Order: sequence, then structure tokens, then C-alpha cells
Amino acid sequence: MIPVKIQCGCGQRYAFEIEPVGGRMSSSVACPVCGADGTSAANEAIAFTLSVQLSQPRSSREMVMLLAVLGCLVAGLAGVVKALNMTGGFDVLLCLLGAIGAFGLALCVYFWRR
Ligand SMILES: [Zn+2]
Repeated sequence: MIPVKIQCGCGQRYAFEIEPVGGRMSSSVACPVCGADGTSAANEAIAFTLSVQLSQPRSSREMVMLLAVLGCLVAGLAGVVKALNMTGGFDVLLCLLGAIGAFGLALCVYFWRR
């Protein structure tokens, strides 16, 4: 159910809750004072409410951030492990730099979202 508030042309305000069907009113609605049809206004209100809800998927966005941080940490750890298994000097240095970069990216993402 989403709340719908309508300001009628006659100045009357009325509100109700509706379970939208396909993002629209499932039945028509009329102003309780003058009887003017408020269905199209209600459809606009529903579309607005739904778009606001869609643009703020707060929990899923935090989930993506968490996954990004975890991914960077895993990449950093993989770089360290790879560096430890190497014998050469320059490759180890490159791997460690990559690992440090991955850790830094993870920290940046983590603090940036706060
Ligand atoms: Zn009215």
C-alpha cells in the first residue's frame, strides 16, 4: 500500500492508501466534495511515489558498497599471497603495490560512503 494525497481543483484535499496495479490506480477515485474525477491525479501521485522509492534503494546500495569493499580486500589479499609465492624482486614489488592499491581503494570506498 502506498499513501496518495490529492489536491482537487476545488481546493479540497483528500488522502487514501492504494495498492497500485501496474503502477496505476486499480479503480477510479473522486473528490468527496465536488465529485471531480481524481484518478489521473492519483496516478501521477503513485508514479511520483514509486519513482522516489526506486531512486532510494538505500539497503541495496549499501549492499553493493559492502560487496565492493569486500572485493577490493580479497583482491588485496590475493596480491599479497601471490607476492609471497614469488621469487623475483620486481614482480613481488608490483604485486605488493597492487595489493596496497586494492586495500587503499577498499578504504576509500568505505570512508567515502559515510
Ligand atoms: Zn473537488
